[in-house]
Amino acid sequence: MFNKPLPFLYRTLEDKELMLLECFVSKERAATARLRAIEEEEVNVLPQTVSSKVTDKQVDINLIKQYFSADAWQVVEQVLECKLKDPKWTCGICCHDLASHKSVGCDGCLEWYHLPCLKINTIPKRKYWMCPKCNSV
Ligand SMILES: [Zn+2]
Ligand SMILES: [Zn+2]
Repeated sequence: MFNKPLPFLYRTLEDKELMLLECFVSKERAATARLRAIEEEEVNVLPQTVSSKVTDKQVDINLIKQYFSADAWQVVEQVLECKLKDPKWTCGICCHDLASHKSVGCDGCLEWYHLPCLKINTIPKRKYWMCPKCNSV
């Protein structure tokens, strides 16, 4: 149906879960989440360093609830609440506030990018646009 990379919507449950887990814990820890529940002290608690994609409307954060201990999940919910109250989207390349330039969202990883950071002038007119990071895997 699609060539790789796949838009987020069409990714497997496993891929979606892994992507969301990596927003809250390290890559290594996300990979072993199935083996051992994530504990409170392992969760990234700084809302500004958690990717805004966790608040994307395509994301169902409850997908990953099963991988956290009850205490750890409370922490995740607090971080989410902070992010929803004060949504700050940053560019996936320069990490600065998205509002400073025109930007485009990746349909694969759900990160957003400034057009100048991508070295393009216009928003790509495609049903699904994939960022350079997604295109390189
Ligand atoms: Zn940028
Ligand atoms: Zn991407």
